[in-house]
Amino acid sequence: MAGEPQADCLFCKIVAGQIPATVVRETETTVAFRDINPQAPTHVLVIPKVHYADAASLVEAEPGVAADILREAGQVALDEKIVEHGYRVVFNTGSGAGQTVFHAHAHVLGGRGLQWPPG
Ligand code: IMP
Repeated sequence: MAGEPQADCLFCKIVAGQIPATVVRETETTVAFRDINPQAPTHVLVIPKVHYADAASLVEAEPGVAADILREAGQVALDEKIVEHGYRVVFNTGSGAGQTVFHAHAHVLGGRGLQWPPG
């Protein structure tokens, strides 16, 4: 069924507590944890507890949870004190854009200067 945990999904396992993660925030619908391979001084992933392959599928099926992801991304930025100098919220969508984990997630990146356009 749509949104159900997938046995072979790394981020579903983090949601279930089956794989350890450095969790910085958690709500009824989301988990935020530090990226294992950080690309900036702050690099946190915000994920829905429900399983959808990417942000577009999530917002189509459960727009309220997609809004929760964006709200939590903003809260992470506040907690990490990266708002003043600017930060970035990124949803890589599709392997051609660098998506490697097919469970929707927002990257929250900050704490250094960020170039535009991204690579
Ligand atoms: P994507 O490339 O946009 O799909 O982002 C997936 C992210 O998950 C990458 O930045 C990885 O470094 C990160 N990642 C993969 N495995 C783990 C883990 O076990 N804990 C935390 N982050 C992870």
